[in-house]
Amino acid sequence: MGDFTVLRGQEVFGAPLSLPLLRYEVPFLPTLEASAPPGGPVERGTYETLKAEYLERLRQLLPLDGVYLAMHGALSVEGMDDAEGDWYAATRSVVGPDCLLSAYYDLHGNLSRRAVDTLDALSAYRTAPHVDRVENVMRAADMLTHCLRYGLRPGIVWASIPALLPGEQSSTEWEPGRRLWADLSEYNRLPGILDVSQLVGYVWADEPRAAASVVVTGTDAGAQKRVATELAGRYWAARHEFRFGSPTGTIEECLSRAMGLKTHPVVISDSGDNPGGGGNSDQTFFLQALLKAGTRDVLLGGMTDRPATDACYRAGVGGQLPLSIGATLDSVMCRPVHVKKAVVKHLTAVTRPEDGEAVVEFDGITATLSARRRLYHAAEAFRDIGVDPAQFRIVVLKCGYLHPTMKALASPALMALSPGAIDQDIVHIGNHRRRPTWPWVADLAYEPAPYVSARFGRR
Ligand SMILES: [Zn+2]
Repeated sequence: MGDFTVLRGQEVFGAPLSLPLLRYEVPFLPTLEASAPPGGPVERGTYETLKAEYLERLRQLLPLDGVYLAMHGALSVEGMDDAEGDWYAATRSVVGPDCLLSAYYDLHGNLSRRAVDTLDALSAYRTAPHVDRVENVMRAADMLTHCLRYGLRPGIVWASIPALLPGEQSSTEWEPGRRLWADLSEYNRLPGILDVSQLVGYVWADEPRAAASVVVTGTDAGAQKRVATELAGRYWAARHEFRFGSPTGTIEECLSRAMGLKTHPVVISDSGDNPGGGGNSDQTFFLQALLKAGTRDVLLGGMTDRPATDACYRAGVGGQLPLSIGATLDSVMCRPVHVKKAVVKHLTAVTRPEDGEAVVEFDGITATLSARRRLYHAAEAFRDIGVDPAQFRIVVLKCGYLHPTMKALASPALMALSPGAIDQDIVHIGNHRRRPTWPWVADLAYEPAPYVSARFGRR
């Protein structure tokens, strides 16, 4: 529970992604928003506690015409294979059969038959990196308000595609992602089609539902099936074309290449430990390599370590101290690095120690430390703490494909295929509980067979 930021009632409208809802004439009534950086399964008790509070708040708002659900789609909960499906079924049991449910999704979400049979509308991001968040809020909210105003009953048609990708290959900034997502909005012009989404799915939770999807919301199941069939076939045919967007190598290969370059900053992604995808953000493989190679003029962004961060606050800015860095969340996969003398350069003013962040220097390395997992992907995340990434020779990020602000600085960008919770070499991590899926089954045969939501039967 400590990893979640929970907003209740009107606080929900303080979150940037809820603000667009206030633009509608229809009143949106807030319930609860719980968000956290992705990383491992959510404890069952945490999930049940949040769900119970949400349902109670929902009950107090009855009767309702519609529910807007801001979801990701890859929530993994201990002992559950389909947490979102459970959430929607619980929602439906409170609001009744006639209320419309419209969900906002990440492009890296998974779907299930239960989710499709419970929701009435769904829209997912059409960009990775996700720069269309506000548009996605409005696509989901537009469908809901439009259908309520004109008395339409929309439904979902879903084509599950048994193909999964390492997340860092799913960018829409290069091919084939660029063309596969670019024209989705064109389909909205067809009669009976309200929205078209295409999801790559989430590969690192080994759940039966993990798969890519095409989701078509509309009022004409036949037209929706034709679109879903066409797009699912197109995605499947392109599956061999997905690539990483920058040169890749092992940590050592990327580091030695960077050290040989005259340009700066060379930005290297430590992709297996990216908290944006579910990594711990506390692995030390890259730090060990930097110290071993004696690399100087390096910015290492995004080490999570509560004890080390707390120690920096005790020492104060300008203080010098020995530090053990990393491997506090996962001490099985890697070991901590012991630094003899680190100098504290910056401490962010915080009211709760769990929000703490520090900048330290040791052995030619400037590193950010944070008490809990957080993303240091955008250039602003560093400038906010007095660090200018452009000034360093090498910048190492707990990141995958780069945020636009960091991409603009990178000269050049490299991606280390490092070990970690979100190892990009998905074939070798194995497939145990997912259905037969490409690439684990290299010669898998597939014909799109769109599934029509049971909600259509109510129209
Ligand atoms: Zn995503």
